[in-house]
Amino acid sequence: MTALEDTFRTRTGEAPSGTWFAPGRVNLIGEHTDYNDGFCMPFALPHRVTVAAGPRKDGQWVITSQNKHETVTVAPADLTPGRPGWSSYAAGVVWALRQAGYDIAGADLVLESDVPVGAGLSSSAALECAVLTALAELNGLDIAGMDRARLARTAENEFVGAPTGLMDQAASTLCTAGHALFFDCRDLTVEQVPFDPATFGVEVLVLDTNTPHSLVDSEYAERRTSCHEAARQLGVTALREVSADGLGDALTALADPLLRKRVRHVVTENERVRQARQALRTGSLDELAPLLDQSHASMRDDFEITVPTVDLAVETARAAGALGARMTGGGFGGCIIALVPAGRTDEVGEEVARAFAEAGYAAPAWFTATPSAGAGRLR
Ligand code: ADP
Ligand code: MG
Repeated sequence: MTALEDTFRTRTGEAPSGTWFAPGRVNLIGEHTDYNDGFCMPFALPHRVTVAAGPRKDGQWVITSQNKHETVTVAPADLTPGRPGWSSYAAGVVWALRQAGYDIAGADLVLESDVPVGAGLSSSAALECAVLTALAELNGLDIAGMDRARLARTAENEFVGAPTGLMDQAASTLCTAGHALFFDCRDLTVEQVPFDPATFGVEVLVLDTNTPHSLVDSEYAERRTSCHEAARQLGVTALREVSADGLGDALTALADPLLRKRVRHVVTENERVRQARQALRTGSLDELAPLLDQSHASMRDDFEITVPTVDLAVETARAAGALGARMTGGGFGGCIIALVPAGRTDEVGEEVARAFAEAGYAAPAWFTATPSAGAGRLR
C-alpha cells in the first residue's frame, strides 16, 4: 500500500477505488500565443498531483490536500463559482462536469503534489486534471482527452475565476512521455513531437527564479487587450492569421509603436514554435537552441514581459554554458528553461545562484526535466 492509500484508508476507513495522477508542465516555446489562436509546445513534467479516490454515499465531495494539511467538504449547495481557497480547483471540476450534463456522485479524494506551486509550472492545472481524471473514471464517463482539458479549463476560468488559456490543461491531459506537445490553439489539434533531450546530448534545466509575482493580472490583461486591438486594426480575427511573410505589411499598417512591438512578438513566436517542431523532428540542436534565445529576446524587448531576475537568470545560464535559454510561462517572474550539455545542469544552476546572491535576489531553485506522461491511472 502506498502512503497515499494509507492516508485515504485512515481518513475514510476504506481502501480507495484507485489512484490517478496529472502532471505539471513546462512550455518549451510559444508564449502568449494561446489567446492569439496560435501555437505552443509544452511538455509534461515528472512532477505531478496524485489523487487516491473512492465513492461516498452522502453525495458530498470530501477533499484532502496533503500539502495543505487540510480537508474540505463540498456539498452540492457549495458549488457556486468564486468560492475562495485551494479546494475551489477541485470543486470547480465537479461543477464544470455537472454544468456539462454529467452526473457526478459524491467522492472521497486524498491528494498530494510535488509540482512547485505558483512557479508557473501549472500546479493548478495538474490538480484540476488529476481530480477530473479520477472523477471521470469513478463515474464511468468516457470523455475525450481534449474535452477533459476544456472542462478543467472551465473550472479554472469560470469557477476559480482565473482567465487562463487552454495550454496548461491540454498539456497536463494530453502529453505523452518522451514527447513535446505541439498544440494548435485555434483548431485544438495536437501533435506528439518526439523529444528526448538525451538524443540531443542535453538536459533541460528548469530554474525557478523565485521572483515575487506582482502586476501579473493587470499586465496580462493589457497584453490580451493590445493583441485583440491590433487584430481588429489589421482586420483579422486573431493574430494567428498574420503570417511571418505578412509581418512587414502588418507592421506598416499599424500606427501605434506599442502595438507593432506586441504583434512582432506574437507573429515571430508562432513562427518559432513551428521551426522548433521542425528542429525536433530532424534532431537538430543547432536549429533548436537559438530559437529559445530569440524567443527570450522577443519577450524581453517586444512583449516586455520579462523582469530583471529572469533576464539575469537567462544571461547567466547562457554564459555558464547553456546552448539556448528563455523565460517560460506568462512572465513577470516564474521559471526559465535552458538546454544544457548533459551532466552540467547543477553547474549552470549554481552559477545562476551565485549571480542572484551577488545581485541581492532570493536564491533560485532548479531541477532537470524529462518529458513525462500526461494524466492517467496509477493503480
Ligand atoms: P501555478 O499553476 O503556476 O502553480 P496558480 O496560482 O495557477 O499557480 O495555482 C496555484 C494554486 O493552486 C495554489 O495557490 C492552490 O490554491 C492550488 N494548488 C496547487 N497545488 C495544490 C495542492 N497540492 N494542494 C492544494 N492546493 C493546491
Ligand atoms: Mg496555474
